[in-house]
Amino acid sequence: MKYLVPFLLFFTTSVKGQKIHYKSILVDTHNDAPTACIEKKVSFDQDLTGINHADLTRMKTGGLDYQLFSIWCDGEKINPYAWAMREMDTMDAVAARNPDKMVVAKDWKTIKKTLKQGKIVAQYGVEGGHMIEDKIERLDTFYNRGVRYMTLTWNNSPSWASSHTFEKTPVTGTQQKGLNAFGLQIVERMNQLGMMVDVSHVGEATFWDVIKNSKKPIIASHSNAYSICPVSRNLNDDQIKAIGVNGGVIFLNFFSGFIDSNFSKKDMAFRKAHTAEVDSLLATGIQKEYAFTLLSDKYKTESESIKPTIEQLMQHFDHIVQLIGVNHVGIGSDFDGINSAPQGLSTVLDYRNFTKALIARGYSNKDIKKVLGGNFLRVYRINNPN
Ligand SMILES: [Zn+2]
Repeated sequence: MKYLVPFLLFFTTSVKGQKIHYKSILVDTHNDAPTACIEKKVSFDQDLTGINHADLTRMKTGGLDYQLFSIWCDGEKINPYAWAMREMDTMDAVAARNPDKMVVAKDWKTIKKTLKQGKIVAQYGVEGGHMIEDKIERLDTFYNRGVRYMTLTWNNSPSWASSHTFEKTPVTGTQQKGLNAFGLQIVERMNQLGMMVDVSHVGEATFWDVIKNSKKPIIASHSNAYSICPVSRNLNDDQIKAIGVNGGVIFLNFFSGFIDSNFSKKDMAFRKAHTAEVDSLLATGIQKEYAFTLLSDKYKTESESIKPTIEQLMQHFDHIVQLIGVNHVGIGSDFDGINSAPQGLSTVLDYRNFTKALIARGYSNKDIKKVLGGNFLRVYRINNPN
């Protein structure tokens, strides 16, 4: 009998958790599967268990309804625009092969229909303004292909916006801090198109120029709170408050290093222990960050032991909610673009554990639905009325 009460409590929470999780529209604003699939030479509609954090079938099993796939390359690629097109071609082909499972939806009517049919809505987020190669008309081309946000910078900086990396350690040259005149035109065109302005990765000067000039609510597609984990990729309290006033949304990043400030030290030791292997991976021509992802996959036990917990991720959630309320937070996992996620949030099958953490905090079903997808849909609709 003494075990019955805790068991019943666990059972009820878990059943309730399942129900609200699957009843909600679950949106993730950041997944790097296009790059991961190309680099690993696998297909998103294969079973990628043990290979990627996500694949088409596991996404559905995990309760995901709406995914913005990241279109990304680092600043060293020679043809970023051609690469972006290739990544979208790859994902469009996945959708074309699986019309019963995923639809690249470009208007509200199609989005609604796809969700109603229980299929996954796919759209794209271009990660890094360098991918338009200084040609503003490419925003229109991207938009027509289903790109619904652009992260103004990745860790590198296009000529017209400075990244967090540049602003932290400015290098001499022509690059200015913040947005230049062309950068302002780009934000204006994005607002007109309905391509949401994403401030994850940008430097503070760029951030404040965006806040001053964007006529639509903005997003941080995959960022956490600086005051909980002080890394320059996270948002400080003034930035968080400004996003609240702007009506925007911050989507929480699952990367261990943006959750726990002790992670990078532990991770560095892990990487150092395998230097020779990283060097030989790089010699095959793959991108640098990707070599470390492969390394973590290979040495699972070692990489698991240095991960933060879900509760540590929820400290970021609680902090943002405390500052600007529950209407301004969502999920931007960064799955398949990160080499370490918290314990209990290892793959797309684990989104339920995030929902359980919300239930444990006593949030109402209404609030849980907002966090899982409603907040995204609100900001999306203001940017894209059609
Ligand atoms: Zn990123």
